[in-house]
Amino acid sequence: MKIILMGLQGSGKGTQAKKISKKYNIPHISTGDMLRAEIAKKTALGERIKSIQQGELVPDPVIIDVIKDRINQFDCKNGFILDGFPRTIQQAKSLDKIVSVDYVIALEIQDSVAIERLSKRSQCRKCNYIYGANQRLKNNICKFCSGEVYTRKDDYPEAIKRRLEIYHKETEIILRYYENKNLLYRINGERSVEEVFDDITSILKK
Ligand SMILES: [Zn+2]
Repeated sequence: MKIILMGLQGSGKGTQAKKISKKYNIPHISTGDMLRAEIAKKTALGERIKSIQQGELVPDPVIIDVIKDRINQFDCKNGFILDGFPRTIQQAKSLDKIVSVDYVIALEIQDSVAIERLSKRSQCRKCNYIYGANQRLKNNICKFCSGEVYTRKDDYPEAIKRRLEIYHKETEIILRYYENKNLLYRINGERSVEEVFDDITSILKK
């Protein structure tokens, strides 16, 4: 069960990935989390990523190596869920050379919904916990550490709109690529977590 989960930030992708991981006992591989972990552990790779991050995306060969190592690990023997990868068509083609994917599930939400959900996010300055749109705090004080909770610059509507433009440009090409291989399933992500998850499990039965 080798799954790619695609979707805008705010599409509920992370939540669904965790639910799939639990139900089918396959690891949730989030490239964002993996790269952040490398940076935190100050590995050679982490240092390299950190120096790249100032400018742009992590180059394809670097991220592809990271993915290749990860999916060759023992816990991926029955499958995995990729979240945040592939980001480019080159990455998608490279992945094909490493492994054959079974399902590509795209959680689709309208831009207006993504903007609505993301602009309501906020983060604690102290412990970095991210509060979702439905976790608004009255006094902007973190419930875990009492730190100040604020809206990240990344989550201002203008910044979100810029991210959406980049996302659509790259993602549509990737989705068409998988559509041509008959691997793509588009799901309406504007519903409840449970409704979306029911759709995903019925796809995974096929
Ligand atoms: Zn906190």
